Amino acid sequence: MQDAPEIKGWCPGALTPMESGDGLLMRAKIVGSRLSLTQLSKIAAIALDCGNGQIDLSQRAQLQIRGVTETTLAAAQARLKSIGLLAPDAATESRLNIVASPLANSTSFDANEVAARLARAIAEDQALKALPGKFLFLVDVGSAPGLRDVGADIRLEARGAQFAVVLDGARDQAVIASPAAAIDAAVALACAFIELRAGRAFELRRMRALVDAMGAEPLLRASGLKSEPYCSNCRQGALSDLLGAHRIGENFLAGLAAPFGRFLAQDFADLADVVSREGAKELRLTPWRTILAPTRSLEQAARVVGAARALGFIVDAADARLAVAACPGAPECSQAKGPTRTGLDAIASVAKALSRGGIGAHVSGCAKGCAKPSATPLTLVANGGLFDLIHNGAASDAPAATGLTLGEIADVVARHGMTEASCPRG
Ligand code: SF4
Repeated sequence: MQDAPEIKGWCPGALTPMESGDGLLMRAKIVGSRLSLTQLSKIAAIALDCGNGQIDLSQRAQLQIRGVTETTLAAAQARLKSIGLLAPDAATESRLNIVASPLANSTSFDANEVAARLARAIAEDQALKALPGKFLFLVDVGSAPGLRDVGADIRLEARGAQFAVVLDGARDQAVIASPAAAIDAAVALACAFIELRAGRAFELRRMRALVDAMGAEPLLRASGLKSEPYCSNCRQGALSDLLGAHRIGENFLAGLAAPFGRFLAQDFADLADVVSREGAKELRLTPWRTILAPTRSLEQAARVVGAARALGFIVDAADARLAVAACPGAPECSQAKGPTRTGLDAIASVAKALSRGGIGAHVSGCAKGCAKPSATPLTLVANGGLFDLIHNGAASDAPAATGLTLGEIADVVARHGMTEASCPRG
């Protein structure tokens, strides 16, 4: 049995970098999904000059620069500030966690504008300094790809000309309000969350825990709000919506991902050149660890896709590597019991066969399972250079086999009779 992993309960920022096995991990503070090409190029340069050249795109659509040192930290912060990606102080940075719909086709709202207004309201409310660092807001304007499968503590979902404000744990009811009133409601509900969790802050770290413990009514009462029955019509995102060249509504876009979720700074710099040659000015980051480049035509999108493929990005939703989720592992994470990111090609086809379109294999550095907290058909947990195998479970579950190399996995899966039909959806 592995030691219980440490729960940090906060996310790294640029002002509060996290110590990890490969140096400091700092996260540029991006509100919503929009990133200009200038910002992308500058982040690539910061990662090369101040970090180790590796960049993660997180499940919150945030870019994390790895391998920053105590010596280069101040310069990295100053350079993020110069491109508008540094919060004014650590307390503000910690609570500005907002994911937004990457595209805004055929809807009345620009999700990034709504996210920016929400960010200003959150930053101005000093009471929200007490929000836990993982507390997440979400703005879904109803356009594809939708954010239905993205977990958030408070959601603002477009509904005609209004917004539904929805609490995690009570998604069958909502406060329906104008855009401005919805932002006020989200702030009031976040304040009520802080008030009601007093004395139980560790146990009630997230909105779902509080709603499970006492229901949504006390939050609504404390905020002076009324809810009504609600059924969301927001859509779920899918990789097939995102990778390759697409027309979605009025948008043309090129979608790409990094093999096993790890981007290299030089690839970002090259991507900025490619997209800029096609006349685009910005990119959109998604919580599915994909990047979208909006273009003016399908032909332009196809050219960006061709160039991205040549650079080594994944541009095809059928690529087997997309069926593998892996956390940083050793040496990058100090809690890891071994490396997780070498030799992953060996399990890609097995993962794909088990995946039913989602994640088929999760490779975790320890029982915490950061890359995929829920169950997957095949979970491999590092154990001293080898792996323990869990079938249809999460990283903290009991293994069915231990001490395996990644090269042995395909045989073991066949021997255990693991098939797509015997596995839950990934
Ligand atoms: S799951 Fe991976 S990233 Fe998370 S604590 Fe364990 S080794 Fe670190």
